[in-house]
Amino acid sequence: TALLQGKFAVVTGAASKRGLGKATAKLFAEHGATVAILDLDEGAAKEAAGDVGPQHVGMACDVTDLEGVKKVFDALAAKWGRIDILVNNAGITQPLKIMDIAPKNYDAVLDVNLRGTLYCSQAVIPHMRSRKEGKIVNLSSVSAQRGGGIFGGPHYSAAKAGVLGLTKAMARELAPDNVRVNAICPGFIATDITGGMLTPEKLEEIKLGIPMGRAGTADDVAGCALFLASDLSAYVTGSEVDVNGGSLIH
Ligand code: NAD
Repeated sequence: TALLQGKFAVVTGAASKRGLGKATAKLFAEHGATVAILDLDEGAAKEAAGDVGPQHVGMACDVTDLEGVKKVFDALAAKWGRIDILVNNAGITQPLKIMDIAPKNYDAVLDVNLRGTLYCSQAVIPHMRSRKEGKIVNLSSVSAQRGGGIFGGPHYSAAKAGVLGLTKAMARELAPDNVRVNAICPGFIATDITGGMLTPEKLEEIKLGIPMGRAGTADDVAGCALFLASDLSAYVTGSEVDVNGGSLIH
């Protein structure tokens, strides 16, 4: 059962209590990995790491800050001697219509979801390349594939579609170095990303569009991340894996 024994993993945006990142960090740890939980607030990151277990690390890291990202990843590589796995999970969304997307909305959503994925990948790639081993898992969304229509606005769909393009291009470029890069496209998962802006009526409407008839759980996504981060997926790269209860059968 220890699919990640002796591995070292970094999960961004993983302090959120009911979030996909924390569930992923926990599952990785249960499978033998040592994890670093990065998030905006240092206290929250350390608390989340403590919940996972004493050997895990919590650090402040804004994924949109290139210099800050480099410092954090270099510190982790120095501490651990290696980084085997990166999960680019930090993300934000906003329920806006196309004409309501102001420059600041565009910047915020594109920066965290897309720029952050680029920066954290750039920070970890040299370490992975030098050891000819690594796995990067990026959180995209069903919103990228079906043009939103769940919660996030068009800028969120665009950012997550950008994550898919970046995933595939990185997978192609890094494959010769034995670094695999894949994306997960979750459907509707019950977390705090909607920031209390999801009404009970909207929730029922969303559920009607899900063949499995329920929202996903953070553990549903964590299981897929474990597959992509472990050798179970040894020949999988550049793929997008749907975790959506059948919301996008095509
Ligand atoms: P969440 O809001 O529970 O957690 C996201 C975390 O990212 C938070 O802890 C937040 O502090 C952190 N974060 C925000 N900006 C950051 C920054 N600049 N640097 C570092 N950390 C930052 O969200 P979640 O639902 O767990 O979502 C996790 C990922 O999955 C996101 O990328 C999201 O877009 C994606 N996703 C979620 C769903 C869903 O239904 N919940 C569906 C599809 C995709």
